[in-house]
Amino acid sequence: MRVLVVEDEAALAQQLEERLSADGMVVDRASDGREAIYYGEEFDYDVAVIDLGLPKIDGVAVIRHLREVERRYPILILTARDSWQDKVTGLEAGADDYLAKPFQYEELLARLKALVRRASGFASPVLRIGSVDLDTVAKEVRVSGERIDLTAYEYNLLEYLMLHPNKVVSKTELTEHLYAQDFERDSNVIEVFVGRLRRKLDPSGEMRPITTIRGQGYRLALE
Ligand code: CA
Repeated sequence: MRVLVVEDEAALAQQLEERLSADGMVVDRASDGREAIYYGEEFDYDVAVIDLGLPKIDGVAVIRHLREVERRYPILILTARDSWQDKVTGLEAGADDYLAKPFQYEELLARLKALVRRASGFASPVLRIGSVDLDTVAKEVRVSGERIDLTAYEYNLLEYLMLHPNKVVSKTELTEHLYAQDFERDSNVIEVFVGRLRRKLDPSGEMRPITTIRGQGYRLALE
């Protein structure tokens, strides 16, 4: 998952980047409202965290702008104090959830995951498509009830495909959403990961869980 973190407190922003990255997410950081609008318009995110009190352009104006230009990913706002007015203003500008500072990282992570799965139409934290169950809390995958072992990259790839079940997902999109900028952006790497994931999901070769659409990308074919 690719996350935009908009926060002008450098220490907090750094900490969020480190922890979200450690949890397998690709993180972009913006430290003022102008940068937030640049990143928010330029790239496609799975979710964004936006502090309301920002230099240059305030967080509420950033959210209004992003919604005006049809950016639909979920947005969680951070409010500096426990002010109900800030929460209402942020939600009315187009945010989906809020968290008052200071907060526990675990609560932020749980809320972000809930927003992402809701945006994809899943209510349960266990994503179920066909015979595949992906538990986003335990990070475990079962095929027809049997647990299979995936590496972190394979897990993230399957999670992304399951969150976009009816879509052809290009290699570029997978690279942008699953691999940080310092990771080698070689499309062969994606092919290798998809190949391994296919074999683990379907050792007998009967289920054909991921279809390759030539020249376009991959589509989950579980149903
Ligand atoms: Ca601030």
